[in-house]
Amino acid sequence: MIKIPFLDLKPVNEQYRAEIDAAIQRVLDRGWYLLGQEITDFEHVFASYCGVEHCVGVANGLDALTLIVQAYGFGPGDEILVPSNTYIATILSISRNGCTPVLVEPDERTFNIDPDEIEAKITPKTRAIMVVHLYGQAVQMGKIQAIARKYGLKIIEDAAQGHGALWNGKRTGSLGDAAGFSFYPGKNLGCLGDGGAVTTNDPELAEKIRALRNYGSHVKYQNLYKGANSRLDELQAAVLSVKLKYLDADNEKRREIARFYRAEILNPNVILPTVEDENAHIWHLFVIRSTRRDELQKYLAENGIGTQIHYPIPPHKQAAYSEWNHLSYPIAERLSREVLSLPMSPVLTKVEMEYVVERINQFG
Ligand SMILES: *Cc1c(COP(=O)(O)O)cnc(C)c1O
Repeated sequence: MIKIPFLDLKPVNEQYRAEIDAAIQRVLDRGWYLLGQEITDFEHVFASYCGVEHCVGVANGLDALTLIVQAYGFGPGDEILVPSNTYIATILSISRNGCTPVLVEPDERTFNIDPDEIEAKITPKTRAIMVVHLYGQAVQMGKIQAIARKYGLKIIEDAAQGHGALWNGKRTGSLGDAAGFSFYPGKNLGCLGDGGAVTTNDPELAEKIRALRNYGSHVKYQNLYKGANSRLDELQAAVLSVKLKYLDADNEKRREIARFYRAEILNPNVILPTVEDENAHIWHLFVIRSTRRDELQKYLAENGIGTQIHYPIPPHKQAAYSEWNHLSYPIAERLSREVLSLPMSPVLTKVEMEYVVERINQFG
């Protein structure tokens, strides 16, 4: 029996081992660890990759989103719309600022926020729409941009799963007013620990976030804002500069795997993910649905195939949000019972993919 882990990061980084070793060496040789040349260089290349003017490296994806909300000055009494099936970090970035997250159901075919559900949730207190390019599929932004213009709302992208995905020829990170990225090791662009970034075309917002990530200070010991300590360190920035060069090629390998899964998985117990446009998806996760999900997961585990559930408990059912536990978001709840993420990584081999497909097709 072949054993296929859900995700093994070691061989992913091993592909670039020599260059990563050299980058780490360079940081040690220079002897400068925070807010130096490496972060400046990475910010430039990542901004240009995303097609925006500014990138600000921060400590992680949650902070990237939290600092955007803070920099806009949103706080208690302000509402921000967010999909009901997202990862908890999206929601936390809003509530950590004292704002109210307002949940909007997703389109169950794409897993992304349903643009047709947004307008009904807008009130005089609404300030922004936080879209999430969930599982790596860029949100189709047309209707959402029109709604944001009509009501004067900001669009904040949670691009933590969407590095390099395109909508209308433009990359995530450039599709709204500001975007938060995560470079957590398992993301499509991942470092060797925690990392994150904000991208934007707004020079004032970028300047403010540069201060906020560093104690609210541009000039040492002069504090303009109640900031945070949230810096992307030099080592992680150096590693990210190496890996960014290969992001498009890695994403292309993921697309090939996804094409194979979509063409070959033929089991009537499985619903395959809907793709709105091949370039829009960078397959951070390959998520299928099944009404027999738990049975299927157990069967695959018995056959040596690792899978995961993203996510088993929707945010409104979490203990941390007990004030929401009585509410009902039926689509988010159904998805939490039906979704299953299959092995997906740029180093998955043909033999491994074929084995996954063969086992799934034999599940009856
Ligand atoms: C990973 C992730 C985050 C948070 O990023 P961290 O770097 O782990 O803080 C936020 N939103 C989504 C959708 C994510 O997948």
